[in-house]
Amino acid sequence: MARYRDSVCRLCRRENTKLFLKGERCMTAKCAIERRAYAPGQHGQRRGKMTEYGIQLREKQKARRIYGILERQFRKTFHNAERKKGITGEIFLQLLERRLDNTIYRLGFASNRVQARQLVGHRHITVNGKLVNLPSFTVRKGDVIEVAAKSKKMKHFVELLEKRAAITLPAWLSITEGELKGQVLDDPKPEDSRVPVREQLIVEFYSK
Ligand code: SF4
Repeated sequence: MARYRDSVCRLCRRENTKLFLKGERCMTAKCAIERRAYAPGQHGQRRGKMTEYGIQLREKQKARRIYGILERQFRKTFHNAERKKGITGEIFLQLLERRLDNTIYRLGFASNRVQARQLVGHRHITVNGKLVNLPSFTVRKGDVIEVAAKSKKMKHFVELLEKRAAITLPAWLSITEGELKGQVLDDPKPEDSRVPVREQLIVEFYSK
Protein backbone atom coordinates (compact mmCIF):
# COMPACT_ATOMS: atom_id res chain seq x y z
CA MET A 1 0.00 0.00 0.00
CA ALA A 2 1.27 3.48 -0.88
CA ARG A 3 2.48 5.58 2.02
CA TYR A 4 3.83 9.09 2.53
CA ARG A 5 7.52 8.71 3.43
CA ASP A 6 8.89 12.27 3.50
CA SER A 7 9.18 14.40 6.66
CA VAL A 8 5.75 14.84 8.25
CA CYS A 9 6.81 18.23 9.64
CA ARG A 10 6.87 19.51 6.05
CA LEU A 11 3.14 18.79 5.93
CA CYS A 12 2.52 21.03 8.95
CA ARG A 13 4.65 23.76 7.42
CA ARG A 14 2.78 23.46 4.12
CA GLU A 15 -0.55 23.90 5.93
CA ASN A 16 0.97 26.57 8.18
CA THR A 17 -0.51 24.96 11.26
CA LYS A 18 0.39 22.28 13.77
CA LEU A 19 -1.14 18.98 12.68
CA PHE A 20 0.32 17.09 15.70
CA LEU A 21 1.72 14.21 13.66
CA LYS A 22 4.69 13.42 15.88
CA GLY A 23 3.30 13.02 19.39
CA GLU A 24 5.33 14.55 22.21
CA ARG A 25 7.76 16.43 19.96
CA CYS A 26 4.85 18.58 18.74
CA MET A 27 4.57 20.11 22.24
CA THR A 28 8.21 21.16 22.40
CA ALA A 29 10.33 23.98 20.97
CA LYS A 30 11.79 21.42 18.51
CA CYS A 31 8.52 21.57 16.54
CA ALA A 32 9.30 22.73 12.99
CA ILE A 33 6.36 25.17 13.03
CA GLU A 34 7.87 26.90 16.06
CA ARG A 35 11.21 27.26 14.29
CA ARG A 36 10.19 27.87 10.64
CA ALA A 37 6.57 28.98 10.34
CA TYR A 38 6.50 29.22 6.56
CA ALA A 39 5.91 26.77 3.72
CA PRO A 40 8.80 24.45 2.78
CA GLY A 41 10.73 24.83 -0.46
CA GLN A 42 12.65 27.55 -2.24
CA HIS A 43 9.66 29.92 -2.53
CA GLY A 44 8.07 29.00 0.77
CA GLN A 45 8.47 32.46 2.26
CA ARG A 46 6.88 34.38 -0.58
CA ARG A 47 3.60 32.75 -1.49
CA GLY A 48 0.87 35.09 -2.72
CA LYS A 49 -2.85 35.40 -2.04
CA MET A 50 -4.82 32.18 -2.48
CA THR A 51 -7.80 31.71 -4.77
CA GLU A 52 -11.09 30.33 -3.45
CA TYR A 53 -10.20 26.96 -4.97
CA GLY A 54 -6.78 27.11 -3.31
CA ILE A 55 -8.34 27.72 0.11
CA GLN A 56 -10.70 24.76 -0.32
CA LEU A 57 -7.87 22.55 -1.55
CA ARG A 58 -5.66 23.43 1.43
CA GLU A 59 -8.50 22.68 3.86
CA LYS A 60 -9.04 19.29 2.25
CA GLN A 61 -5.31 18.52 2.31
CA LYS A 62 -5.06 19.59 5.94
CA ALA A 63 -7.84 17.20 7.03
CA ARG A 64 -6.38 14.38 4.94
CA ARG A 65 -2.98 14.86 6.48
CA ILE A 66 -4.28 15.06 10.04
CA TYR A 67 -5.99 11.68 9.64
CA GLY A 68 -3.09 10.28 7.57
CA ILE A 69 -5.22 9.04 4.69
CA LEU A 70 -4.38 8.89 1.01
CA GLU A 71 -6.58 10.76 -1.47
CA ARG A 72 -8.46 7.77 -2.83
CA GLN A 73 -9.66 6.55 0.55
CA PHE A 74 -10.34 10.08 1.75
CA ARG A 75 -12.58 10.73 -1.26
CA LYS A 76 -14.30 7.40 -0.79
CA THR A 77 -15.09 8.30 2.83
CA PHE A 78 -16.49 11.62 1.63
CA HIS A 79 -18.79 9.89 -0.88
CA ASN A 80 -19.95 7.51 1.87
CA ALA A 81 -20.82 10.57 3.98
CA GLU A 82 -22.72 12.09 1.04
CA ARG A 83 -24.92 9.02 0.80
CA LYS A 84 -26.02 9.26 4.45
CA LYS A 85 -28.86 11.43 5.77
CA GLY A 86 -27.79 14.63 7.50
CA ILE A 87 -25.19 17.34 7.10
CA THR A 88 -22.50 15.89 4.82
CA GLY A 89 -19.59 17.82 6.40
CA GLU A 90 -20.47 16.69 9.92
CA ILE A 91 -21.05 13.07 8.88
CA PHE A 92 -17.76 13.10 7.01
CA LEU A 93 -15.84 14.22 10.11
CA GLN A 94 -17.73 11.64 12.14
CA LEU A 95 -16.71 8.84 9.77
CA LEU A 96 -13.07 9.97 9.96
CA GLU A 97 -13.24 10.02 13.77
CA ARG A 98 -14.73 6.53 13.87
CA ARG A 99 -11.83 4.96 12.00
CA LEU A 100 -10.17 2.34 14.21
CA ASP A 101 -6.70 3.96 13.95
CA ASN A 102 -8.12 7.32 15.07
CA THR A 103 -10.06 5.65 17.90
CA ILE A 104 -6.87 4.00 19.16
CA TYR A 105 -5.18 7.41 19.11
CA ARG A 106 -8.11 9.06 20.93
CA LEU A 107 -8.05 6.32 23.58
CA GLY A 108 -4.40 7.21 24.18
CA PHE A 109 -3.08 3.78 23.11
CA ALA A 110 -0.75 5.58 20.66
CA SER A 111 0.94 8.98 20.72
CA ASN A 112 -0.03 9.81 17.13
CA ARG A 113 -2.18 8.39 14.34
CA VAL A 114 0.78 6.91 12.45
CA GLN A 115 1.67 4.81 15.48
CA ALA A 116 -2.01 3.92 15.98
CA ARG A 117 -2.20 2.73 12.40
CA GLN A 118 0.86 0.56 12.93
CA LEU A 119 -0.55 -0.98 16.12
CA VAL A 120 -3.71 -1.95 14.25
CA GLY A 121 -1.83 -3.21 11.18
CA HIS A 122 0.44 -5.35 13.36
CA ARG A 123 -2.55 -7.10 14.94
CA HIS A 124 -2.27 -5.72 18.44
CA ILE A 125 -5.89 -4.55 18.66
CA THR A 126 -9.18 -6.39 19.09
CA VAL A 127 -12.72 -5.14 18.58
CA ASN A 128 -15.36 -7.06 20.53
CA GLY A 129 -12.80 -9.80 21.18
CA LYS A 130 -11.78 -10.28 17.53
CA LEU A 131 -8.43 -9.22 16.07
CA VAL A 132 -8.88 -6.39 13.55
CA ASN A 133 -5.95 -5.30 11.40
CA LEU A 134 -7.74 -2.76 9.20
CA PRO A 135 -6.96 0.84 10.24
CA SER A 136 -9.98 2.05 8.25
CA PHE A 137 -12.39 -0.22 10.17
CA THR A 138 -15.34 1.88 11.38
CA VAL A 139 -16.17 1.48 15.05
CA ARG A 140 -19.79 1.61 16.23
CA LYS A 141 -21.62 2.53 19.38
CA GLY A 142 -21.13 -0.23 21.97
CA ASP A 143 -17.91 -1.65 20.45
CA VAL A 144 -15.26 -2.72 22.95
CA ILE A 145 -11.73 -2.01 21.83
CA GLU A 146 -8.88 -3.74 23.62
CA VAL A 147 -5.19 -4.51 23.25
CA ALA A 148 -4.82 -8.19 22.28
CA ALA A 149 -3.89 -10.48 25.19
CA LYS A 150 -0.59 -11.52 23.54
CA SER A 151 0.44 -7.85 23.12
CA LYS A 152 -0.23 -6.58 26.64
CA LYS A 153 3.33 -7.36 27.78
CA MET A 154 4.88 -5.18 25.08
CA LYS A 155 7.02 -2.38 26.53
CA HIS A 156 4.86 0.23 24.77
CA PHE A 157 1.67 -0.93 26.49
CA VAL A 158 3.26 -1.58 29.90
CA GLU A 159 4.63 1.99 29.95
CA LEU A 160 1.32 3.32 28.70
CA LEU A 161 -0.58 1.87 31.67
CA GLU A 162 1.89 3.52 34.05
CA LYS A 163 1.46 7.06 32.70
CA ARG A 164 -2.05 7.16 31.34
CA ALA A 165 -3.52 9.57 33.90
CA ALA A 166 -2.80 12.60 31.70
CA ILE A 167 -5.11 11.60 28.81
CA THR A 168 -8.28 13.60 28.16
CA LEU A 169 -10.86 11.38 26.52
CA PRO A 170 -13.51 12.70 24.12
CA ALA A 171 -17.09 12.27 25.37
CA TRP A 172 -17.87 9.47 22.90
CA LEU A 173 -15.27 7.11 24.38
CA SER A 174 -14.68 5.56 27.79
CA ILE A 175 -11.80 3.61 29.21
CA THR A 176 -11.65 0.85 31.82
CA GLU A 177 -9.44 1.99 34.67
CA GLY A 178 -6.20 -0.01 34.97
CA GLU A 179 -6.83 -1.91 31.73
CA LEU A 180 -5.95 -1.48 28.07
CA LYS A 181 -9.58 -1.44 27.15
CA GLY A 182 -12.03 1.18 25.93
CA GLN A 183 -15.59 1.42 24.69
CA VAL A 184 -17.45 3.50 22.12
CA LEU A 185 -20.28 5.17 24.07
CA ASP A 186 -21.83 7.18 21.28
CA ASP A 187 -21.30 8.62 17.81
CA PRO A 188 -18.72 11.44 17.88
CA LYS A 189 -20.26 14.92 17.78
CA PRO A 190 -18.73 17.64 15.52
CA GLU A 191 -17.15 19.32 18.56
CA ASP A 192 -15.50 16.01 19.55
CA SER A 193 -13.27 15.88 16.48
CA ARG A 194 -10.94 18.57 17.91
CA VAL A 195 -9.35 19.08 14.50
CA PRO A 196 -8.80 22.59 13.09
CA VAL A 197 -10.76 21.92 9.92
CA ARG A 198 -13.62 23.83 8.27
CA GLU A 199 -15.47 20.85 6.83
CA GLN A 200 -17.78 23.05 4.73
CA LEU A 201 -14.81 24.00 2.54
CA ILE A 202 -14.10 20.31 1.91
CA VAL A 203 -17.73 19.76 0.92
CA GLU A 204 -17.42 22.68 -1.51
CA PHE A 205 -14.15 21.28 -2.88
CA TYR A 206 -15.63 17.88 -3.70
CA SER A 207 -18.90 19.35 -4.97
CA LYS A 208 -17.26 21.09 -7.94
FE1 SF4 B 1 3.87 19.24 13.01
FE2 SF4 B 1 4.51 17.94 15.23
FE3 SF4 B 1 6.37 18.35 13.32
FE4 SF4 B 1 5.45 20.35 14.85
S1 SF4 B 1 6.64 18.56 15.52
S2 SF4 B 1 5.76 20.41 12.66
S3 SF4 B 1 3.27 19.81 15.08
S4 SF4 B 1 4.50 17.09 13.17
